[in-house]
Amino acid sequence: MSQFWSPAVRELTPYVPGEQPREKLIKLNTNENPYPPAPGVEAALREYPVDHLRLYPDPQSLALRQALAREHGVAVEQVFVGNGSDEVLALAFQAFFCHERPLEMPDITYSFYPVYCKLYGIERRSLPLDDRWRVDLDAFTADSGGAIFANPNAPTAHGHPRDAIAGLLERLTDQVVLVDEAYVDFGGESVVPLIERFPNLLVTGTFSKSRSLAGLRLGYAIGSSELIEGLVRVKDSFNSYPIDSLASALAIASLEDREHFDACRERVVTTRERTVRRLGELGFEVLPSQANFVLARHPEHDAAQLFVGLRERGILVRHFNTEALRDFLRISIGTDDEMDSLIEAFELLCR
Ligand code: PMP
Repeated sequence: MSQFWSPAVRELTPYVPGEQPREKLIKLNTNENPYPPAPGVEAALREYPVDHLRLYPDPQSLALRQALAREHGVAVEQVFVGNGSDEVLALAFQAFFCHERPLEMPDITYSFYPVYCKLYGIERRSLPLDDRWRVDLDAFTADSGGAIFANPNAPTAHGHPRDAIAGLLERLTDQVVLVDEAYVDFGGESVVPLIERFPNLLVTGTFSKSRSLAGLRLGYAIGSSELIEGLVRVKDSFNSYPIDSLASALAIASLEDREHFDACRERVVTTRERTVRRLGELGFEVLPSQANFVLARHPEHDAAQLFVGLRERGILVRHFNTEALRDFLRISIGTDDEMDSLIEAFELLCR
């Protein structure tokens, strides 16, 4: 605690990211992709003219935004980019949610949202999940100061279909509705096609999961040009140079390789279904997942002890020490071999 910190920072419980171990472990704790980025990314890295690093990048990140606009079937004015979707989310909180009316979000959801509320002095209204651990779309109210949720949700992994979210958007017209699609490529349904109908819908996405580029720090937002302009205003106030030019070149190379993208996500989905089946055979309850992770609990075995047992066997998963999630482990989907090792370890631990 420091006297120099502003009150919001003093009260802040910082977001604690999953461990990045130094030793070689089977790493199933931060929802990274187990497969390498598209081959074109490596080629772009080799061919990148190093002299370009002497120059500031394009302040508009135009080439990358054009590539994203093509990918999502929108105009370039409807695309914003940032250093990871966490940065894009922070800017969205500042641009759209900093006012008197409370921001509504599910309880449970991505744990960064409450951190941003604290930091920016935004009042938060938490909406319990329904009895099947799904975001309760009916609970959002028309008089809020905004709505935010991840779809599929994290760490519960359930995703609502587009039509259900369209129903919510028909009710919520006076505030920004932010749908965080960090995990949508693993079987979820994107709401980007709804943007034309709903100027208050902002969708965020990331290159960290389905594009295997978490180390690059690249995220984006898609919405009406009105919302994108709001984000640009906030960003311009403290950082006028968006994405670094090397990251832009690599991200564009990734977007150009549709085949690799589809193959990797299909592999993750197939491995997920296999893992769900095998966890079920071991007695785990596994919440239905449309993401690259599953949330699972065992009726007879303590999750914290399972976490430790796995760690001792060189496998890292995520255990959240909160009341609602204490019984669960969140397990990222790795390669088939990695998931086989996980199942073997559980066979020993759950005997
Ligand atoms: N949204 C959700 C729901 C997430 O789980 C994450 C990753 N932890 C992010 C956004 C942020 O991803 P990134 O900053 O790597 O784009």
